[in-house]
Amino acid sequence: MPIYEYACTKCNEVFSVFQSVNASEKDTRCPKCGSNDVKKKVSAFSCCSIGGGSTSFGSSGGFGGFGGG
Ligand SMILES: [Zn+2]
Repeated sequence: MPIYEYACTKCNEVFSVFQSVNASEKDTRCPKCGSNDVKKKVSAFSCCSIGGGSTSFGSSGGFGGFGGG
């Protein structure tokens, strides 16, 4: 089972969890504040290089296109 890294949008806690590949953000809860309002972090160094710009995760608010997979 892979390890996923999440970032809580409530308290900005970052944590890693063992999770099925079918699990979603809604199934994940922040261990710090208990909120399920979390975002899955992606490994910027794992997949193919897109564009080649800087990887600034969490700088802008409109982020959320991981569904569907
Ligand atoms: Zn939290």
